[in-house]
Amino acid sequence: MKIFLAKDAGYCFGVRDAVNLAYDTAKRHGDVYMLGDIVHNENVVADLNKAGARVVKSLDEVPDGKPILFRAHGTLVETWDDAKSKDMNIVDATCPLVKEIHDEVLKLSKEGRKIIIIGDHGHDEVVGIASQVNDAIVVSNEKEAMKLRKMKRAGVVSQSTQTIENVQKIINIIMTKVYDLNFVNTICFPTKRNQDQIKDLAKECDVMIVIGSFTSANSKRLTMLAEEINKKSYQVTDADDINIEWFAGAKTVGLSAGASTPDNIINNVLDKIKTISKNHEEMIYG
Ligand code: SF4
Repeated sequence: MKIFLAKDAGYCFGVRDAVNLAYDTAKRHGDVYMLGDIVHNENVVADLNKAGARVVKSLDEVPDGKPILFRAHGTLVETWDDAKSKDMNIVDATCPLVKEIHDEVLKLSKEGRKIIIIGDHGHDEVVGIASQVNDAIVVSNEKEAMKLRKMKRAGVVSQSTQTIENVQKIINIIMTKVYDLNFVNTICFPTKRNQDQIKDLAKECDVMIVIGSFTSANSKRLTMLAEEINKKSYQVTDADDINIEWFAGAKTVGLSAGASTPDNIINNVLDKIKTISKNHEEMIYG
């Protein structure tokens, strides 16, 4: 059996840098605090907790002088202002590509455009983007796009981890609603690369495995992409979820992972799949 591991499976650079920064800061200060989980992966959060990275619900829970780490997918403008006014020790792990989306939104807003964000309601990144301006509209699917009122000027961006397919469907509808529309495609390049590799692998392989937590919208979207192309596509959270029966008669297996899946879990799944076939060949794809 040939096993193809997608080159960009797992952590994007934004998440990897944020996780490393959390470990480093915890090491230097004894502990570090974060408003919510740093990535949508239970194993990573548990490991970080052991290292001293603590999750809190509000800035008030951070002990005096201790660092507060702002996560890769961005933080509400109000929270930034609050932390600065309290003169807190802020460690900024915001991904530069998320900062670019914030900048685009501000530019579009300055042009007098209503801001529309294509993304998941309540997702931290989307909430952070929306907080850059007043009254941004979040649209997550075609049905919501259909309900938009007609408007003269609007600027549209997307959450960094959206699929191009979802964004295209929604933009097609928004085009019928807005007279003067400016769309900036803010799906980030690590996400694009990962999605492209998954689509190609799902086409070329008998079985497709996507590794990621079911709490990660990004991992679920990647699984959906694979399923649309290959019915034998499965999402697993770790090696224990692998079902040997999925691989009956398979000559090729594609393997990828969401942006919040750590390397050790990817390696565990890879090792488990290798045990299924005595004659296996492992290759990096992409
Ligand atoms: S998914 Fe893209 S934008 Fe989000 S943290 Fe990763 S690299 Fe940055």
